[in-house]
Amino acid sequence: MRTPCFIANWKMNKTIAEAREYLQAVEKRWPQLPGAPWETIVAPPFTMLAPMADFLKERPLQIGLAGQNVHFEERGAYTGEVSPLMLRDAGCRHVIIGHSERRTYFGETNALIHKKIGGALRAGLIPILCVGETREEREEEKTGEVIERQIREALDDLRPGPSDWIIAYEPVWAIGTGLTPQPSEAEEVHRRIRDFFRSLSKEEEADTPRILYGGSATEKNIAAFMEEADIDGVLAGGASLFAESFCNMIDLGVKAKEK
Ligand code: PEP
Repeated sequence: MRTPCFIANWKMNKTIAEAREYLQAVEKRWPQLPGAPWETIVAPPFTMLAPMADFLKERPLQIGLAGQNVHFEERGAYTGEVSPLMLRDAGCRHVIIGHSERRTYFGETNALIHKKIGGALRAGLIPILCVGETREEREEEKTGEVIERQIREALDDLRPGPSDWIIAYEPVWAIGTGLTPQPSEAEEVHRRIRDFFRSLSKEEEADTPRILYGGSATEKNIAAFMEEADIDGVLAGGASLFAESFCNMIDLGVKAKEK
């Protein structure tokens, strides 16, 4: 059974003090941790990573940290960039790569995303690769084709094992809009992604990376997504900014998976 995984993408929100308050709220909610049968990852802005890692070091709370972006080189003259090594140093185990906001606002291409994944893997970081179709691509019924191309080009010559990365299927038109696909439609895409990864392996039932759904996931809809066989968790943006709502989502998601 794949461990359910819940990722909070804070985007460009919060201060260090607010990040600490958030962790304190989660700690109040789950004083019994560690030992949870799920994985929780928070991706805050870079400035909060080290203080959050320090806070978590002294506590049993099992929350992993992820960067929201990364450069592909280890170091060098790249003003304003943060390297995979620096993310490791600041306490990250994971890094989000290829988020649609990076693709749209910062022109990230599949080729660049491939380089970033390589850099992350070399530094021992686990990439959380985001893929998803635009509204136009969905209307033209190109979803499967687009997703497969994004993954194939992000991979290129790389063949990481099932636990070496996480995939987040995030339809671009669903991010921050309140719109979502039907859970069964998302499941269809997840199934296709899983089949694609299985096709890279010689074993028919080979383990594959976990595949999370992202795009306007909330307390209201998470259970329906998590009931689908190939949806292993959720990457949440807006709804993850509030500790209570993110914790509720995890509770509901885990329960739905246990059904
Ligand atoms: C995201 O930022 O990846 C995301 C899914 O955002 P939201 O949940 O706000 O749609």
